[in-house]
Amino acid sequence: MDPCIFCIIINGEIASKIFYQDEDFIVIHDISPKAPVHVLLMSVKHIESLQNVTEEDSEFLGKMMITVNKIARKLGIAESGYKVVINNGKGSGQMVFHLHLHILGGWKKEAGWKV
Ligand code: 5GP
Ligand code: ZN
Repeated sequence: MDPCIFCIIINGEIASKIFYQDEDFIVIHDISPKAPVHVLLMSVKHIESLQNVTEEDSEFLGKMMITVNKIARKLGIAESGYKVVINNGKGSGQMVFHLHLHILGGWKKEAGWKV
């Protein structure tokens, strides 16, 4: 199996600016942003996708959502609004098979989220 690029980043094997880090999650800016603000919130633990979690991960997944809330405030987009996207599986466009979600926001008022 190819080495997982997000595990490589988490292990500090390639230099990457970490925006936020705790024992369960790491947040980095997406290398190819699809919005003025586009970050990736990934699990420290290697889990392939949302389809690979179980009931035992309920607390962890709850914490993931609360972390989104916290990160949106830190990014200054909590008030203006943002989207949260999780791609699951090749057909959805998932490219990195390590559980992560996208937080997208920061659009100018007149442009809105369509840009
Ligand atoms: P997916 O389609 O798997 O949900 O999204 C993977 C995302 O990871 C893409 O938006 C892509 O731009 C981003 N990405 C892939 N490799 C790297 C990398 O090495 N560094 C950063 N910061 N982002 C990456
Ligand atoms: Zn991984």
